[in-house]
Amino acid sequence: MALELPTSLSPSKVSTFTDCALAFRFSAIDRLPEPPSVPATRGTLVHAALERLFGLEPAERTLPAALTSIDDAFEVLREHPEYTGLALDDAAEAEFLDQSEQLVRRYFELEDPTTITPVGVELRLEVELDGLLLRGIIDRLEEDEHGELIVTDYKTGRVPAAQHEQARLGGVHFYAYLCEQHFGRRPARVQLLYLSEPIAIHTTPTDQSIRGLERKVRAIWSAIELACDRDDFRPKPSRLCDWCAFQSFCPAFGGDPDAARAAVRDETAVSLTSAG
Ligand code: SF4
Repeated sequence: MALELPTSLSPSKVSTFTDCALAFRFSAIDRLPEPPSVPATRGTLVHAALERLFGLEPAERTLPAALTSIDDAFEVLREHPEYTGLALDDAAEAEFLDQSEQLVRRYFELEDPTTITPVGVELRLEVELDGLLLRGIIDRLEEDEHGELIVTDYKTGRVPAAQHEQARLGGVHFYAYLCEQHFGRRPARVQLLYLSEPIAIHTTPTDQSIRGLERKVRAIWSAIELACDRDDFRPKPSRLCDWCAFQSFCPAFGGDPDAARAAVRDETAVSLTSAG
């Protein structure tokens, strides 16, 4: 039986499908919930702190203000299931906050936020490509001293090995495409700020990269349509399996993918029952 197509594509869905079609099915089609993880939740906190920092006047974007932003963002996050689901004890919470602070401190080694002119932070953009909805959230869009647009994406995980660098830049080319279609202006630069090192990776969008992004998105969407039509999403074991939340349903690890659908159905039935 053909599976229902996802309603949109985002950079993370493109990268999930490219990394492993079966993980994409579990996440984007079966909508299997993923348990929160410390690295992802730490990323949420750091992004929220930097969003608050750029809500301040330029001269106020100091390191002490950024550390206060972490505290303020944590007050909100600590009530959220993404954090409470981690069930951290006091020592683990202190480590979580300490590591988040280290990332924000390293951000200041990469750039001086008082010199940045943001156009928007956590900017949600949607555009259509051949009737397909493409959407993404740009961490920060700014104008440089020449009035050119710059797209910035913060990364709180490890820097990719050199051979994976272009693949990781695929996400920022996606943002450049969204930006060009939405604002009618191509960004002069897209950059990934890896806070853990810290290191910045830059690239310049060109006619070729924009056309390449369109070609890639069309090809991936065709592959998703075909896989949905045939209900054929195959596992692609790699070192990413170590972090995959769906291992227990994956045939590469002795699991049954159809049990994932049953689990989602059961969960939906339970929540409908409790809502009724
Ligand atoms: S465990 Fe590995 S192969 Fe299986 S779904 Fe996850 S990423 Fe894909």
